[in-house]
Amino acid sequence: MYDTVKGSDWLGDQDAIHFLSREAPKAVFELENYGCAFSRTKEGKIYQRAFGGQSLRFGKGGQAHRTCAVADRTGHSCTGDGMAMVSRAGIPLQDMEFVQFHPTGIYGSGVLVTEGVRGEGGYLINSAGDRFMTEYAPVAKDLASRDIVSRAMTLEILDGRGVGPKKDHLYLQLSHLPREVIEKQLPGISHLSWVFAGVDVTKEPIPVIPTVHYNMGGIPGNYRAQVLTRENENDRVLDRLWAAGETACVSVHGANRLGANSLIETLVFGKAIADNIDCMMRPGERHVDLAPDIGQQSICRFDATRYSQGNITVATLREEMQRTMHKYASVFRSCDILQHGCREMTRLYTCDLPNLCVQDTSLIWNTELVEALELQNMMLNCMHIIYAAENRKESRGAHAREDYKERIDEYDYSKPLDGQKKLPIEKHWRKHTLTWAQDDGSICITYRPVIDTTLDETEAEHVPPAVRSY
Ligand SMILES: Cc1cc2nc3c(=O)[nH]c(=O)nc-3n(C[C@H](O)[C@H](O)[C@H](O)COP(=O)(O)OP(=O)(O)OC[C@H]3O[C@@H](n4cnc5c(N)ncnc54)[C@H](O)[C@@H]3O)c2cc1C
Repeated sequence: MYDTVKGSDWLGDQDAIHFLSREAPKAVFELENYGCAFSRTKEGKIYQRAFGGQSLRFGKGGQAHRTCAVADRTGHSCTGDGMAMVSRAGIPLQDMEFVQFHPTGIYGSGVLVTEGVRGEGGYLINSAGDRFMTEYAPVAKDLASRDIVSRAMTLEILDGRGVGPKKDHLYLQLSHLPREVIEKQLPGISHLSWVFAGVDVTKEPIPVIPTVHYNMGGIPGNYRAQVLTRENENDRVLDRLWAAGETACVSVHGANRLGANSLIETLVFGKAIADNIDCMMRPGERHVDLAPDIGQQSICRFDATRYSQGNITVATLREEMQRTMHKYASVFRSCDILQHGCREMTRLYTCDLPNLCVQDTSLIWNTELVEALELQNMMLNCMHIIYAAENRKESRGAHAREDYKERIDEYDYSKPLDGQKKLPIEKHWRKHTLTWAQDDGSICITYRPVIDTTLDETEAEHVPPAVRSY
């Protein structure tokens, strides 16, 4: 629990983090009972490896080995459809400015190299062959939190210590690891590195670069996984609407997610939904009557997309969106760049998106239509992300502002609290951002306080805010 709260840069809701930590071991055993082929130790126990941001004794006992693993097999990607659906229904999205850059995407293709590689002893080096993470995170080194490692890598590249002809990436070294560790624990990565970089990891380092990976933000929810909206400065539960997984913002990750916390989140909160529905509904209960025209709007949108006769192709606009977000909402952010990005994204969203051209109108395996619908969703997500990023005038977790380098809390936690006056919520940033998409394409912003108490303080005490260092 301590690691997740600290990893979140104290933006995570501690009731939800408590729930996650309490339920996680049960979820792993449940998976095992289903037959999940976990790697094993010699004693036959589930193999657990080191992952970034995980510690013993509340950050003071060194690296923890806590991540249950099946060799180096990992998860898949999120399309952003769920968030866009909820946003179109007039519900806000939460903390969308926090986008995680995974430190080790394979240079050129972006395919991810799991953090498990560093968990097994791999490390990053720059053009001088230096293991530079020892400078940025002397204790955790390459297993510092992902936001810290991605920023350190970006700084190395900006300072001219990148590798390759353009000095624009770095190396992940694992050839020093015993061959049997590579073969047994990292078979997937060995294969991917060969296919996407032509690298034999037993002899050469993998070229890597920080790569967009995960949205900490999403559909606001509570620890029961019920979706929330905000009315008159209070949370309101939206009856019968539930969200779990990457689409949701419960919020257990706050401003930065720890590696391995995503799959466990999908399991724990997915089960919470089933359990809560089981408690709330009785067999034979009737559904509420639905409006006769339910779904009409979706069908209209679907048809409008299918018969779009504009002059911009889906692929062109998708690339433009990607380029814009990469340029204006990247690892390091600042006011003028973000404002420029807001203007660019608004132009793409309000002028170019309605001008799409979809040539294939068929209804069987129509990938162009699917991509057009997904593009609409991704672009709506981008609008939430870039406006929220422009709005948050501080640096916290994955959100690093060059013009506001400090984290701004209700107190200055780098100094003794005695004698300090607590800042009111409108003067600090330890609060969730809620972004509301309007019909005209604009984004409205309000806030939600962070929940700082656990479900039961006798079982798990909350973790008070502190300076975050690794
Ligand atoms: C390469 C990689 C490695 C990762 N490694 C790890 C790791 O080691 N540990 C970890 O904890 N996390 C890891 N993650 C993150 C984790 O895998 C994801 O966050 C997690 O899988 C998200 O699960 P989800 O069920 O919320 O979403 P998804 O897995 O994206 O599932 C969403 C599902 O909804 C479907 N869908 C989408 N739109 C619609 C629609 N309109 N209608 C119907 N269905 C729809 C999709 O097809 C998909 O099946 C990794 C992610 C990646 C990309």
